Formats: sequence, structure tokens, C-alpha cells
Amino acid sequence: MTLPAFADYTPERYRNEIEEAMAHQRDGLAALRDDPSPATLGTVLEAWEDARAPLNLILSAFYTVRSSDTTDEIDAIAEDFAPRLAAHSDAISLDRGLYERLKQLDARIAAGEVDADEQDRWHVSDLLEDFERAGVALADDDQERLRALNQRLAELGSQFQRLNREARNAATLHVTQEELAGLSPAEIASLADGDGFRVEVVNTTQQPIAAKLADAGLRRRLLDASLGRALGDHDTRAVLIETARVRAERATLLGFDTHAALVASEGTAKTTGAIEAMLIPLAQAALGKAREEAVELAAKYAELQPGAEFTAADWTYVEGLLRKERFDFDESELDEFLTVDRVVGAAYDAATDLYGITFRRREDLVGHTADSEVYEIADADGSPIGLFLMDLWARPTKNGGAWMTQLVEQSELTDDLPVVTNNCNFRQGVETVSWDDVITMFHEFGHALHGLFGRAKYPSRSGTAVPRDFVEFPSQVNEHWAWQPGRVLPAEWLDKLRAASEFGLGYAKAEALIAAVLDYAWHSTPLDELPTAVDDVAAFEAAALERHGLVDELVPPRYRSQYFAHIWGGGYAASYYGYTWAEVLDADAVAWFEENGGGTRANGDHFRSTLLGVGGGIDPMETYRRFRGRDPELQPLLKRLGLTI
Ligand SMILES: [Zn+2]
Repeated sequence: MTLPAFADYTPERYRNEIEEAMAHQRDGLAALRDDPSPATLGTVLEAWEDARAPLNLILSAFYTVRSSDTTDEIDAIAEDFAPRLAAHSDAISLDRGLYERLKQLDARIAAGEVDADEQDRWHVSDLLEDFERAGVALADDDQERLRALNQRLAELGSQFQRLNREARNAATLHVTQEELAGLSPAEIASLADGDGFRVEVVNTTQQPIAAKLADAGLRRRLLDASLGRALGDHDTRAVLIETARVRAERATLLGFDTHAALVASEGTAKTTGAIEAMLIPLAQAALGKAREEAVELAAKYAELQPGAEFTAADWTYVEGLLRKERFDFDESELDEFLTVDRVVGAAYDAATDLYGITFRRREDLVGHTADSEVYEIADADGSPIGLFLMDLWARPTKNGGAWMTQLVEQSELTDDLPVVTNNCNFRQGVETVSWDDVITMFHEFGHALHGLFGRAKYPSRSGTAVPRDFVEFPSQVNEHWAWQPGRVLPAEWLDKLRAASEFGLGYAKAEALIAAVLDYAWHSTPLDELPTAVDDVAAFEAAALERHGLVDELVPPRYRSQYFAHIWGGGYAASYYGYTWAEVLDADAVAWFEENGGGTRANGDHFRSTLLGVGGGIDPMETYRRFRGRDPELQPLLKRLGLTI
């Protein structure tokens, strides 16, 4: 188990090692391509992995640090390398000689001249498809244009990330102690800033802190700051318009109608029609449910503030009050159970109970940030599984949200064991977290387990190396274990919490599904119908949602276009639907656990051996069928959400 020596890395060293690793991959692939001997697994697939490994390793370390604790120098390296790495990747995926060499191997396997197992066959066929989707068959001048577009997209993605982070910081509100009424003394203390207090804005439109703010004026200012960010200073709109336009042009060049069609072909959904047929009716049903909720909330608000208009800024606050009234429930009563240590420990314990794995803290190892904790993970029989790094804390140099990264890929070829990270944004100095934070933590740890359990032959297929619309499914299944009685909360609290959290589910689902529809609109609109001017972004957004009856001032999308980091700077373009697509699998898989006795070791082992451990080693939908015994069904998700379509 090799952990990158983070403490030894200077910006200069990152630069040098990235350069060297790019050269290594170029040389290795040239040798693979020009090898005159008959194609074999060793001379093609294993050589492919050997060429790729050093660059993958150094970039994983670099981007992990950049996401969790960046500096101006690190940002500068990322921006410098973005177009060069895009060109590097194009040089590979547009190399007809490499493609021909893979086809030779494929033909030899088909002819029975090379003995290949299902992982070898899947690896070859999927690589060939990737080459075809990347434009290897295009004429020279079209390939030239494609290279230019790819480079531009890489630059734009980096610019968006920087502007969006700056815009989020710039949206911070400076407030007085009186305005913070409703927060606990500890929460107020954690917001102290010089003589006053500061309230920072998070990634999403709705700001979780607003649920506790009694001051309607501050709630309004906070939502306005959130909705209005990235429009004036740190304006992202020119970047996002160009991004959408370049993607549309690129898709056409590659023979697809739209970028969404191209992305659908990479996933397990396969077609935009299949995605829209799931997404739009679900979004409409969820908005319908949110509107029913709005009637109740507005009535409550009229009692509280006679004559005042109930708006989206009041939604989470009034929802919290009603929830307390109706379910005799105040989330702050959970504080004694929701300390950071307890919650994190509960996620680890759940994995021990399900999979038999153990955690040993390695104080001697330095993680990707100064505050991260390193754990050695071992199997029930004591054999090592991999290393896990946990960085819990928010800092101004960290991206918002929570995520997992795969620092070192597992491989049966190299005998490498995996090293993965989890990154949260808990506020240091605040003892407790919210129930949403608990779910997020279990979710990210689900990704970590998917990475840690990898037992694939080829490193590039291990663990979470599955399509976007599949990768969120194992992490969502892991959220389920936070709900086990006694795991985080005693059973009586769980019943209350479940009833209370089902209240308001319409809103939560609607805002996320509306954002997914917005993503889909940006990426399924042909080039000549996309906006060209920054002032047209809001109108495009409104029209895209209006078309499906999804505009409602009370239920704004979870992200507005100008701060939708997932799709402009985070690799989720035309893929945000994937969370819901994966939720279909999640609900169907959880139903399997329930039908078979719940979270037992036997059930955990079955999930691990048929699906988690296989990762992307073979077709992920085939792993699903081996786990479930059939294809996924939608009904368990509809039941969970209380929706009918
Ligand atoms: Zn996730």
C-alpha cells in the first residue's frame, strides 16, 4: 500500500512529475502501437495499463490536493496543464495506429488465437468504443477541429471552477449577532468574524443554515446572495455559454445530435429518450408534491406573519417549524447523537458489520491535507484491503460539498492495493452535524468502499471506474445503513426522523430533478438554438423549465445555471440525471436487502462479491443482474418517494 508522499511535494515537483509521466505514457503507447509481434493481452492491454499508470497516479494526487487545500500556485499549474492534458489525451484517443492495434487483439480473441476471460474481453471492447466515441475515425481536418474544441473545453472548465469558487466566497454575508437569532450559542460563535459575524454561502441554491434563522430579512438576503452569485463580479455566464456551444459543436462533429446523446451512449442509460422518459415525469410529479407542501407551509406562514408573502426564502424555516409542531421534532434534540466523531465512527462500524472489515489508524502516515486521518483497512481474516484517508474539515482553500477520490487504483496485474479519500466540509469548532451531513458522510463512504473493495484485473477498471449513471448507486445504498436502529440514532428517534424527513420530500426531490432537467436542456439543445449573450442565460433557463411546466418561484432549481458546478466544472454535463437513474438501482437494491433479511454479513458479502468488488471489470449492468437476479425496476423508488406517475 503506497501513499503518495504528499509532504514532499512542492508545486515544482508536481510540474516535473506530470511532465515526466506524460512522456512515459507517450513513449509506452508508441511502443505498444509499433510493436510488430502478434497482439496479445500482455503486449496490448497490460502495456496500455503500464503506460498509463504513472500519469494517473500523479494526477490523482495533484487533483486531490487541489480540491481539498489549493494554493494560487497549484491553481496555476492546473490551469497551465488543463489544455496540455486535453491535447495529450486527444493524441492518444485519436491515434489510428493504437486503435488498429486494439482491433488486432480483438480479432485474435474472436478467432480464438488469444485466450481471454470476461474482464479481458470487456476491457478491449470498451476501449474500442471509447476510441470510436472520441473521434478516431474522423478525417484529419475534423480531428484537428476536435482537438481545438477539447482544449478549449478544458480551459473553460478550469476557469469556471475558479470563478465559481470566488463568486461563492464573495457572496458571504456580514451580519450582526441579533440577525442570527435561532442559532445555538455555539453555532453563533463559530460564525464570529472580527467585530461581527459572517454567513458563508454553500454550493446549492437553498442554504441549510436558513432553516434555523428566525430573521426573515436575513433569510431573504441569504437566498438572494445565493441566487444572485456569479452574475456581476466573478460572472460565469460567458464561460458557461461558450462551454455549452463548444460541447454542442463537438457532439455534431462526432456524429451525435447533441452532447446529451453522446453522454447517454457512454452510460448505462444509452439513449436520451430513456433518460427523458424517466426524468421529466418524475420531476413533474415531485413538483406537484412540492406544491401540495407549499399550500401547508404558506398557511402556517400566514399565522406567523399575517400579511407577509411566503417565499422560497422562508421554505426551509417554516418547514422546520411545521415539522416540529407536527412530529414533535426539533433536530437540535438530536445533537447529543450527532457529534462528528460518533457519526464517522457509525459509518465505519456499519461497514464492519456488513463486510467484516476493520480500521486501524496510522498516525505515522501523512494524508493529502494536514488535517486528514489515515486508516489501514483489513478484511475479516486480517488480510490488508487498502488505505483510507478522511479529510473532514471545511477551509477556504477547499471546494464545496463532499466527495471521494481514488488516489491509488487497485489491480490484480500489479498487486497494488487501493488508496482512497473522503472529503467533507464540516465546520471545525462545531461539535455536531445535521442529519443531512450524516447521510452525505455515509454516501461518500459508500464511494470509498466501492474503491476499496475493488478486485479487478486492470487498474483502469477498478472500483468506481464505472459510468456516471451507475457510480452513484453503491454510495446511495450505503446511505441506507445510517437508518439502522441504534447505528447513529436510537430506534424511537429514527421513526420520528423518518416521518419528519418524508415531510418535505417533494421539495427536496423537485429542486434536484429540476436541476437535472436544466442540465439536460443545456446539453440537448442544438448549437443554433443556444444563447450567445450573457443576458440570455436567465431566459434560456426559464424557457427550458417552462416547456415542461417546471417553473415555480417557490421551488428554484437546486443549482441555477451560473453556479451549476457539476455540469460546467465537475464532469457531470448531461449526467446530473445520473443521481436519479442510480437511485432507481439504489431503491431496487435496498428492496433486495429487505427481502433477504437486511444488513447481514451474508448479504453484505453477496453485494461485495457480485457487484462492489467487480467494479468496472465487466459490464456494470451485468454485475447488477448477478447481484439482483434480474434487471432493475422503478417501482421501489416510486414507493420510497410516495409518487405515482
Ligand atoms: Zn456521490
